[in-house]
Amino acid sequence: MTALLEVEDLRVAYGKIEAVKGISFKVDAGQVVTLIGTNGAGKTTTLRTLSGLLKPSGGSIRFEGKDLSKVPAHKVVSLGLAHSPEGRHIFPRMSIEDNLRLGAYLRDDKAGIAKDIQRAYDLFPILGERRRQAAGTLSGGEQQMLAMGRALMSQPKLLMLDEPSMGLSPIMMQKIMATITELKSQGTTILLVEQNAQAALSLADQGYVMEVGKITLTGSGQDLLHDESVRKAYLGED
Ligand code: ATP
Repeated sequence: MTALLEVEDLRVAYGKIEAVKGISFKVDAGQVVTLIGTNGAGKTTTLRTLSGLLKPSGGSIRFEGKDLSKVPAHKVVSLGLAHSPEGRHIFPRMSIEDNLRLGAYLRDDKAGIAKDIQRAYDLFPILGERRRQAAGTLSGGEQQMLAMGRALMSQPKLLMLDEPSMGLSPIMMQKIMATITELKSQGTTILLVEQNAQAALSLADQGYVMEVGKITLTGSGQDLLHDESVRKAYLGED
């Protein structure tokens, strides 16, 4: 079976500084795959490159067998990749519903869009209750929900989430993680970047540990969760 996403020996540099130093990983359809690692490991750089926002300096990115490395960002969405970025980037003055509509900007099927807005409200009822309210009035966790809802509005084949748990209370984080599990059960394929290794590995089929631009360890979510070196480095155990 061909992987939905296949990254091989990917390199990305900021000027002379190489932030991603030849990483390889894959995501099969229907899977949740997580990239974990500390600050500065290169996780965000990797997602931004998959989205076409940064150009690779080497290696290949294949999505459904197509080479993505030269596809510009606005085309990447139309191929079926959606990115919920770190720091959310919602539009604070626009209403919640208009933020969701923006995620569907490439679509013109009105009925389908309305159905998917309803689906976002079913996933996150608070967004429905406040649909006319300015998005900037939402709490951090609620803004995270909106960013995820908006990314889903493009009906992606692959949903990329950059640190959805960042800055959230434990309860809000659990809610976001439960939603990821629900999306997976609905068949959504997800690439999840997280610093919260415990949460991410608990729900991932496959995990990759990234350290200073390289993948140092790979395995199933459960195997990595029980791996001694992962527990020491990322789960705060002695
Ligand atoms: P974080 O969780 O903090 O976002 P990360 O694993 O996502 O960490 P990246 O943000 O991808 O890591 O950063 C990888 C490396 O690239 C870091 O050393 C960072 O300082 C560097 N870097 C990131 N963005 C830039 C930039 N615009 N210009 C120069 N260097 C950058």
